[in-house]
Amino acid sequence: MKNMILIGAQGAGKGTYAAILTKKYGIPHISTGDMFREAIKNQTPLGVEAKGYIDKGQLVPDALTVKLVDERLKKPDCKKGFILDGFPRTLSQAEALDKITKLTHVIFLEVRESVIMQRIGGRIQCRKCSAIFHKTNMPPKKEGVCDKCGGELYTRDDDKPEAIKKRLAIFHEQTAPLIGFYDKKKLVKRIDANNPVPQQVADEIIQVLGE
Ligand code: ADP
Ligand code: ZN
Repeated sequence: MKNMILIGAQGAGKGTYAAILTKKYGIPHISTGDMFREAIKNQTPLGVEAKGYIDKGQLVPDALTVKLVDERLKKPDCKKGFILDGFPRTLSQAEALDKITKLTHVIFLEVRESVIMQRIGGRIQCRKCSAIFHKTNMPPKKEGVCDKCGGELYTRDDDKPEAIKKRLAIFHEQTAPLIGFYDKKKLVKRIDANNPVPQQVADEIIQVLGE
């Protein structure tokens, strides 16, 4: 059973490693950021409410976010395990998650600030399937087009410099303290995510998780 969360600053590569891990273990990749973007695209009530926060680089309120995750984790495909990416991000979310499920692994992806800025600066994402590419580190075969589904690649509004600064500050203030919370439960594994080759970082995570 692998009930895991990935914690790391923006640009640590959570989404990229999660895509590798989800294939390897056959368990779903649950990204709250992707779920919110999907809700915004479909203009659901949740999406409409979340959009105002997300575009400004702020966190969506816990009440909305916890409900979203709770409903998702109840789906049958999570019975064998799951990879949570982008949740929890605050201590109160971590406490709420404790009541919903029992985690087996907390993967903490450590990455230097200079590496973060370089990665987010060039990040592009597929509008259709959420796949992530990078203008120089991991370019798509054809510029502006997703290798996986042919969808359009774009730069997220919250990847623009002002929003990035705010998101990094929120990470240091609100999300970094989660490491202490999970250290007490002896769940944290630290991974060096400065390596520019995603597969190598993913392989290190796989070593920690086992088969
Ligand atoms: P990143 O990790 O690069 O900030 P995500 O795609 O994970 O990007 O999230 C994008 C935005 O979605 C966040 O800036 C925030 O507004 C919102 N969001 C995602 N997950 C959460 C969460 N657990 N709690 C509150 N807001 C969230
Ligand atoms: Zn795509």
